[in-house]
Amino acid sequence: MTKYVFTTGGVVSSVGKGVVCASLGMLLEARGLKIAMMKFDPYINVDPGTMNPFEHGEVFVTDDGAETDLDLGHYQRFTNAVLSRKSNATTGGIYNAVIQKERRGEYLGKTVQVIPHITDEIKSRIRMLTADAEENIDVAIIEVGGTVGDIESLPFLEALRQFRLDIGPPNCCFVHVTLVPYIAAAGELKTKPTQHSVRALRDIGIQPNVIVCRTGSMTMGPDQRKKVAMFCDVTDDAIIGAEDISPLYAIPLNFKKQKLDDTVLRLLNIPAPQGDLSGWEAMVERLKGAKREVRIAAVGKYVNHDDAYKSINEAFVHAGIANDCKVKLQWVDSEQFEKGIEPAEALKDFDGIVVGPGFGTRGIEGKIKAVKYSRENKVPYFGICLGMQMAVIELARHKLGLERAHSTEIDPETPDPVICLLSEQRGIKDLGGTMRLGEYRCELQPGTRAHAAYGADVIGERHRHRYEFNNAYLEPLKEKAGLVVSGTHPKGDHDLVEIIEVKDHPWFCASQFHPEFKSTPLYPQPLFRDFVRASLERSKLTGRG
Ligand code: GLN
Repeated sequence: MTKYVFTTGGVVSSVGKGVVCASLGMLLEARGLKIAMMKFDPYINVDPGTMNPFEHGEVFVTDDGAETDLDLGHYQRFTNAVLSRKSNATTGGIYNAVIQKERRGEYLGKTVQVIPHITDEIKSRIRMLTADAEENIDVAIIEVGGTVGDIESLPFLEALRQFRLDIGPPNCCFVHVTLVPYIAAAGELKTKPTQHSVRALRDIGIQPNVIVCRTGSMTMGPDQRKKVAMFCDVTDDAIIGAEDISPLYAIPLNFKKQKLDDTVLRLLNIPAPQGDLSGWEAMVERLKGAKREVRIAAVGKYVNHDDAYKSINEAFVHAGIANDCKVKLQWVDSEQFEKGIEPAEALKDFDGIVVGPGFGTRGIEGKIKAVKYSRENKVPYFGICLGMQMAVIELARHKLGLERAHSTEIDPETPDPVICLLSEQRGIKDLGGTMRLGEYRCELQPGTRAHAAYGADVIGERHRHRYEFNNAYLEPLKEKAGLVVSGTHPKGDHDLVEIIEVKDHPWFCASQFHPEFKSTPLYPQPLFRDFVRASLERSKLTGRG
């Protein structure tokens, strides 16, 4: 039978509930338990796919093609939980389902209301998460986005309160993650906001069993622990101090020291042997011990949000672990290359260049110039999704002489649409959930860099894009531009080009898919790993490494 951990947030948003859930999941898995993970998001968007990643953070894609909240990326990197479209639900998605049922007449005669109809739908999503799992799930960890006290979170919290009664109180526990701020004038960590937020939770009928206190750079002392325990009616051992910890992957080890897993398992009454964390600990030591540094330029539109490319940033951390080096990823604005600044100048101190995913026209010509610079100067190049499309355009323009070659996304009138919409995308009007999404099979060509990186003939990687390589340009690009197609998705009459490389270059590889979504610290993604390795080689050649 599955038991449940529900995680709520208190005092402010962005307290790191996602990492707390992911860390707990990792600790429970280490003890041999099978876990499932899920997040509820209180916004009205049906999914985050249409939201601006520069405001909301990246959109994380699952194998089955769901566009989900970036916290699922943390779950993926810390645990082996299977993530799917069942792992994320929003207020918009819940209401959408209820309204569709209402239209079909499934509530005939009834007034449809938040309680019980919306709360029932929320509860059914929790049950669906584990309903047809291949193996029995021991613990499902369910995170509620937002902060207790928000109007938007109320139906979710009410549903959890009911769920606890439905399955019997010993079968679930509530973890509340709050901020305990340091007030300099008093020279103290203050527990009052946490007390208030627990009071707000109790008003809804939920008593937290564990409180994780985020304390910034301060460490919580025994007095404050006792105070939170007493005022919030929680046992001392269930107060977990969570100061800022770097690297990120050391966070579960801090929780382990405080026996978070023991406390949760005691509350859920699950006996489990102590786990073996030596593999994880060794990974953290390797990460901390890296001495060499490699500098990578991420060329693109300016981003003011660290989380906009969260999975890419983390995949580079993982690639650093695999190469025993620190990867210094630095943002380089591509628009400057459209205003007279030469890539050779701005990029001269970098060992590798990456052009990542993107939408829209801003900074596009600058990205193409950056590709040209890396190709001609033999600087390792890694293109991800839009970064692959830019590489194809660059080759067509500068090696085939098709000066106006472009993607029809950017220039619908281009005479040489080397990147274009496939017929199945042409009739689509709705923008939500209609891209090419999720995992596709990709066959690799022996003798290529991609094949060497993966060490496999067939792989699966996740997609999120609308436009594709135009096969009408395949032969000329291969014959006259040095293009190598190293990965394709077989599709009968027309295979889709998924990975390209160029000849006579130390490392130039670009994928139409998003390899970052599958990278984890224990299993660094092969293309990221080899790109960083090639960049390290270059740093040695140029005397920087
Ligand atoms: N805008 C491009 C497309 O839709 C690339 C998308 C991406 O980089 N994720 O095909």
